[in-house]
Amino acid sequence: MSDASRRNFLRGRVATHAAQPRPPWARPEADFVARCTQCGDCARICPTGVIRRGDGGYPTVDFLHGECTFCGECVSRCEPQALLRGNADDAPWALRASIADNCIARHQVECRVCGDQCAENAIRFLPRIGGTANPTLDSERCTGCGACVAPCPVGAISVT
Ligand code: SF4
Ligand code: SF4
Ligand code: SF4
Repeated sequence: MSDASRRNFLRGRVATHAAQPRPPWARPEADFVARCTQCGDCARICPTGVIRRGDGGYPTVDFLHGECTFCGECVSRCEPQALLRGNADDAPWALRASIADNCIARHQVECRVCGDQCAENAIRFLPRIGGTANPTLDSERCTGCGACVAPCPVGAISVT
């Protein structure tokens, strides 16, 4: 562990950052914070710009700025291996999308924007008699990529 990382670890930043989504293939939070030197290399290399500098300088993922394509560039770039993909089939994270009740399609306004963005077909629109089709999210298909988040006109989608 570097001196900078050790100082941050001892300052107790583990608990305060636990709720922030980390970049894909991040180690468990305590280990991640202990290793991450806040160098920003993962954010600079990310081709979609989804990695941002979060509280305390630690990288976090903000889907309002982009989606994750799971290209793995951030992992390859992380020298202290705070991001680590041990095996090719290791899951990048447990993040999944969810749709809140302010979705306008649930209030009689036609909208299928999120479904159009989802390459995994995880968002299906179920027809309703006498109403607009409702989006339903299949969490088995959802990869948590976040492509549906920014395009939603009312910010109804979160990935947690
Ligand atoms: S896997 Fe690729 S797109 Fe996803 S956060 Fe890392 S660099 Fe960005
Ligand atoms: S997070 Fe990605 S995979 Fe999941 S519903 Fe949204 S677009 Fe589809
Ligand atoms: S894009 Fe947003 S408002 Fe439109 S159907 Fe999807 S969740 Fe609802």
